[in-house]
Amino acid sequence: MGWYEAIKDGINAAQKADNIPLVNNLIEAQKQILDLINENNKLKIENSELKAKKNLTDKIERHKDAYITLKGDSQKLIYCSNCFDTNQRLIQAQTDEDGTYWCPSCKYRGYYDMEIYNRKYHEDIEPEYII
Ligand SMILES: [Zn+2]
Repeated sequence: MGWYEAIKDGINAAQKADNIPLVNNLIEAQKQILDLINENNKLKIENSELKAKKNLTDKIERHKDAYITLKGDSQKLIYCSNCFDTNQRLIQAQTDEDGTYWCPSCKYRGYYDMEIYNRKYHEDIEPEYII
């Protein structure tokens, strides 16, 4: 017999005995048990989501220039750090030759190699400073 049937039988017996305080106590206990079951189910879902997030976090590598790669990926494909940090989604980024990447999902543009970027865009103006 489960808890629900046990309490239901108790309520029936208390009603037959005309014990109203006991009926009320058993109904209150039944409500509290249902609340605990609902809370437990909510926590199970939350725990499952946190485990999935941790599992994913364990598989990524963060980089100084705010992009993500996967541990053990020999291609070192670049994923959007914005999408990962906001939605825990791994969205492969499109890299450009200027050291930046672009995310097709959130449209974020970040750096994957600041040195390449600086060389490309700052060398052009350096001679002016040298003179
Ligand atoms: Zn993104």
